[in-house]
Amino acid sequence: MSPDDAIVIATYSRRMRLRLPDGSEVDARIKGKRLRPVCGDRVTATTIEGESDWLITAIGPRDNELTRPTTRGKVEVLAANIDYLVAVAAAEPRADWFIIDRYLCAAELMEIPAAVAYNKTDLDGDAAAIRSELDNYAGIGYDTASCSAETGAGIGDVQRLLEHRCAIIVGQSGVGKSSIINRLRGESLQKTSAVSEKTGEGRHTTVNSVMIPLPGGGAVIDSPGVRDYAPAMQSSRMDAVGFREIVKFAVDCRFANCRHLREPGCAVKDAIENGTMTRRRYESYKRIVNLTDQLSAGRFPA
Ligand code: GDP
Ligand code: ZN
Repeated sequence: MSPDDAIVIATYSRRMRLRLPDGSEVDARIKGKRLRPVCGDRVTATTIEGESDWLITAIGPRDNELTRPTTRGKVEVLAANIDYLVAVAAAEPRADWFIIDRYLCAAELMEIPAAVAYNKTDLDGDAAAIRSELDNYAGIGYDTASCSAETGAGIGDVQRLLEHRCAIIVGQSGVGKSSIINRLRGESLQKTSAVSEKTGEGRHTTVNSVMIPLPGGGAVIDSPGVRDYAPAMQSSRMDAVGFREIVKFAVDCRFANCRHLREPGCAVKDAIENGTMTRRRYESYKRIVNLTDQLSAGRFPA
């Protein structure tokens, strides 16, 4: 089989669930100790004589990786080949737009389109303020959707955004990521039971991550790691590419290396003055510049 013939759709430690080109699913083991396939990987796999398991022998090139630093100072890959990110905000827990901006920065670094979804529209909260932020994100070029995982209102809009895509859904704990995923699936099975059902024989295995196919096409990659994913600040490129509107305005800055802080002739500053960029997004940008500066100076903020 060629490298892009099978896709990893669930991982359980060193065991994997694969989807083959004909749409069928098989269990697989990994050849050797060096290969570390993750959910979303395109892999080369072969049958093993006398066994129902397949064997993964190679991982195809990745379009991108969702990574996080481990406590041991290494980098862990949570998923690969993601082509869409949905950042969820809600009135409860109170929306933290800096966190949303950081997720959007992560999407820009992965070079994938992204959406901001407002969940829990059934609650009153700061609805007007949240909608005005959503309008601003839409103006910058992000997809937006409003929904209630509780009542089901607007879930169809979220589903349409995910069509034909392999997405991750991220956001603060408690904003309703699991609830949205369960709604999208049209059922509320526990993820683990849904996966063990797929592996057959009701084996007791710990699911690391799983690609959940959605009715109407598209899929969501879900795992505890993805759900708790907090974008790292380590990338020095975050301030340079993370803010779409800044990238756009920066073309007109007097200095090519303008960081849009105190430089004269700064088109980003002009955009803020004339109201084409919000101060709120600019404050996020400055916080990120600050954090990346501290990191590159070897000071690690708590
Ligand atoms: P996660 O941590 O982001 O995965 O959030 P959960 O899906 O576990 O939801 C956290 C809490 O918010 C749970 O008590 C859900 O029942 C509740 N919740 C999720 N979506 C909604 C919603 O649209 N409206 C309301 N009122 N509650 C919701
Ligand atoms: Zn500038």
